[in-house]
Amino acid sequence: MFGIKKLLGFGMMRLPTADDKPDHAKICEMVDYFQSEGFNYYDTAHLYHGGLSEVAIRECVAKRYPRDEFVLCDKLSVNYFETREDIRPLFEKQLELCGVDYFDVYLMHSQTRGIYDKFRRCNAYEEALKLKAEGKFKHFGISFHDTPELLEEILTAYPEIEVVQIQFNYLDYEDTAVQSKRCYEICRKFNKAVFIMEPVRGGSLAKFPEKAQSLLTEGSPASYAIRFAAGFEGVAAVLSGMGTMDMVKDNTSYMKDFKPLTEEEIKRLFIIRDVMKNANTIPCTQCRYCVEGCPMNISIPDLFACYNTKQIIDDWNPGYYYKNVHTAGKGKASDCIKCGACEAMCPQHLKITELLETVANTFEVNK
Ligand code: SF4
Ligand code: SF4
Repeated sequence: MFGIKKLLGFGMMRLPTADDKPDHAKICEMVDYFQSEGFNYYDTAHLYHGGLSEVAIRECVAKRYPRDEFVLCDKLSVNYFETREDIRPLFEKQLELCGVDYFDVYLMHSQTRGIYDKFRRCNAYEEALKLKAEGKFKHFGISFHDTPELLEEILTAYPEIEVVQIQFNYLDYEDTAVQSKRCYEICRKFNKAVFIMEPVRGGSLAKFPEKAQSLLTEGSPASYAIRFAAGFEGVAAVLSGMGTMDMVKDNTSYMKDFKPLTEEEIKRLFIIRDVMKNANTIPCTQCRYCVEGCPMNISIPDLFACYNTKQIIDDWNPGYYYKNVHTAGKGKASDCIKCGACEAMCPQHLKITELLETVANTFEVNK
């Protein structure tokens, strides 16, 4: 699909660096290996490495391979424009930095409620679609980090969207904060191509918990995570942010002739997931009985889910979702006025007000 030859894509956001800049010599070696194994899809954004990921694309890919031998995705990121008029010059600069005269795929980057609202105010989708009509990129899409409801709203408003990039991995699959599975189902309902980001959750799933290590031993933990994501119908690319040649070699070895996980392997992977999830410290069952009556509009179970996720894997995800999704336009944990309405509703008899203090201390202090 879209000229992408194999399901694995090279995410250019965690590149090897030297003196805090992408190390072009190492990246060239990684790109050469990737291409020689039959892979051809690259994903960048102006945001990655402060614009230097795009430069790495130019120096390590575009200058060294004919344009029809690689497929390139770039993105419109919210921090680089304030009005519709800012978008075209930014886009032209992105083409120049990447050393290409068109992108294969262009995504509206990291759509959340707040970011989408700004894109709407600036008519960013309309401006991007104008650029597409002029032949400056071939396929239009979004990368997405919010609720299934917002995804449905966007896909309804913009039927021109061809591809949706979602966070999807076996840990987030049924996670009530990220809701990977439901977002995937919305993509399928609207018949969109699905690109997967964070299949290894920024490297966090590159290790199994010690007591579950013996359950899957034929490949690396990352290989099971990537093959899990790649096995779903409609998935057109799975991105891996590769930072070393070892990662490129490992990933390409099992994705060259991709075979989905067997039912038994998926079963074992979910056992491993449950071992990870058992590190939860707040036994909230996500019934949501407490939500409606909160005068401060605090999305209590979602904040607890972020907290629990952080107890299992302390990466950037829980903080991101806490700040940009579950408290955007809603109450934060520290906004609780201790009225007690929620505790009266909680079938688990949780001391919600105390727990929210813990959550606030986790996500709001010096963060
Ligand atoms: S105690 Fe806090 S969280 Fe609970 S309903 Fe009142 S304001 Fe909302
Ligand atoms: S009522 Fe209690 S168990 Fe249910 S979602 Fe709220 S905090 Fe969680």
